[in-house]
This record gives sequence, structure tokens and C-alpha cells, in this order.
Amino acid sequence: MPAIHSASLYAAIEKPAAYDLHTHTHHSDGALAPTAMVQRAAANGIRVLALTDHDDVSGLAEARAAAAALGIRLIDGVEISVTWRDHTIHVLGLGIDPAHPGLAAGLAGVRAGRDVRAEQIAAALEALGFDGALAGARRHATNPALVSRTHFARWLVERGTVKDLSAAFRRYLGQGQPGYVPQQWAALGDALDWIRASGGDAVIAHPGRYPLRDSELDALIAEFREGGGAALEVVSGSHSDAEAHVFAARTRRFGLRASCGSDFHADGESRFDAGRLPALPAGCTPVWQDWAPA
Ligand code: AMP
Ligand code: MN
Ligand code: MN
Ligand code: MN
Repeated sequence: MPAIHSASLYAAIEKPAAYDLHTHTHHSDGALAPTAMVQRAAANGIRVLALTDHDDVSGLAEARAAAAALGIRLIDGVEISVTWRDHTIHVLGLGIDPAHPGLAAGLAGVRAGRDVRAEQIAAALEALGFDGALAGARRHATNPALVSRTHFARWLVERGTVKDLSAAFRRYLGQGQPGYVPQQWAALGDALDWIRASGGDAVIAHPGRYPLRDSELDALIAEFREGGGAALEVVSGSHSDAEAHVFAARTRRFGLRASCGSDFHADGESRFDAGRLPALPAGCTPVWQDWAPA
């Protein structure tokens, strides 16, 4: 084996990545409008940007216009919430057709489930004495069809209950905490079918974030690949240097491609700014290998 672990990927990010394939806008739980997100990406030197809002594609039209005006390439994307064996997994669709009826219907179903969950989360927070939780979270959500835990977390910070988002998840909204409501998201096979039917490549987002044993992670990746999945997100705002190398090795072992994305949501909330992420480790096949050149 070559000594791929010797150089730290994350030690010094000298030049911006040309590709950032995981970003959010206020159409889900990001803070920026699509135009502002695209402008920020362009200013940071990105040439190919995927917008991947949670369970929603309504920001893509505005982003496309902004990208055309700035001469950068926009990849139509989405980040689908999936339940696999009682675990929530995020699957990115890159290069999807946002107008595809099967994809649109699937995402509408996931969003409907979010509405019910938001009411349940609010009830759980109210039981702790935090009045006005639903209205508070909704005030932070620009897209009324997409209320996420992040919006509850921002409201908890705003009312002074916690000092930052991380504390909101640690104390109230994370799994096992009193404001956590288990949710049945899309089935993995369905999410893969929607993405593929609409012409997209499916990518397992931030695989290092799931509390899965190695054997479970391998089972997930095997099932994902059998269902037509294309890539693992290797470089991510959620990954350490060591994790990037671990997942690079897994792409080789499973014959999958590799993706990279900041998962940028908002100033002060995200580890990497859009495009400020390290290169893929050597020996990965990028997910964009068969796309038209940038
Ligand atoms: P939801 O899809 O509504 O369950 O919300 C999930 C979102 O919450 C993720 O996409 C992240 O943006 C955010 N999130 C999850 N865990 C944390 C955390 N520990 N700190 C900050 N944000 C988090
Ligand atoms: Mn998010
Ligand atoms: Mn995610
Ligand atoms: Mn994300």
C-alpha cells in the first residue's frame, strides 16, 4: 500500500476546490438565498457547484439563473432523508432532473412527514416549558414546507436556552434527547430509484457521521451499490482527515466513486466555507468522471 496517510489533507487548504457538491440554502436549513449561495461559491473560486437542499428542489431554478450569470456550472442536487435499519442516512442526488414526476412525488411525501414531525418536536419542547416552539421554528424556516431540526435549534439559541446549535442538538434535539422524535424517512431503495429515474447519481452523504459499526456500514454500502448507488462522499465538512482516507479506501473496495462537499449551511455554523475544502485523496475516482468537463 502507498503511504496515503502521510500527508494531512486538512492541514492546509491552499487552493479552493473546483467542485463543491454539497451545499444548502434557505429552501431547507441553510441561511442563504440560492443567488447568495451561488455568488459566495463563485467568489470562493468554485467552478462546479451542487445545491443539495434537504428533501426539496425549489431553490434550483433561482440558483441556475445566478450560476449562468456568473459563468459557473450548477449541478441540480438534493439531499434525501432515508431510514435504513432504524438509522437516518442522507443520500445525495447529483445531476437529477428536479421536474421528474417520480422524484417530485417522492420528495413531497418526505416533506409531508416533516410537517407532522415538526408538530411532534414542538409538543416535546413545549412539554419542557419552551412555549411557542412551532411558531418559533417556523419563523426561522424560509420555506414553510421544510421545517428542520436546525430551525428549532436556531430558535433555542435565539431565546437564550442554549449558546449554540451544537448545544441545542446535544441537549434537546439529538437522538435520545427529550426533543427528539424518531422519524420514518424514505426507504433507501426508493430514494435510489427516484434519483436514478431522474437521471442523477446517488451519493451517500458524510458516511462518517452515522453511528454504525464497520460491518453495518459495509452492509449499507453494499445495499446502496446494489440499488445503483454511485459514490461515497469522501471529503466532507463532517469528516476528519483520517475519515477521508478511510472512505477513500472504501470507494476502492466497493468499486464506487468519490464525492466532495462542504455541507455549507451558514456563516458560523459550518466547518468549511463553500469550496474551502481539501482535494480528494489520491486513488479515488471522482463522481464527476463521466460528467461533461467543467
Ligand atoms: P433534520 O433533517 O430536520 O433531522 O435536521 C438535520 C440537520 O440538522 C442536519 O442536516 C444538520 O444541518 C443539522 N444538525 C444535525 N446534527 C447537528 C449538530 N450536532 N450540530 C449542528 N447541526 C446539526
Ligand atoms: Mn442540514
Ligand atoms: Mn446531511
Ligand atoms: Mn447537508
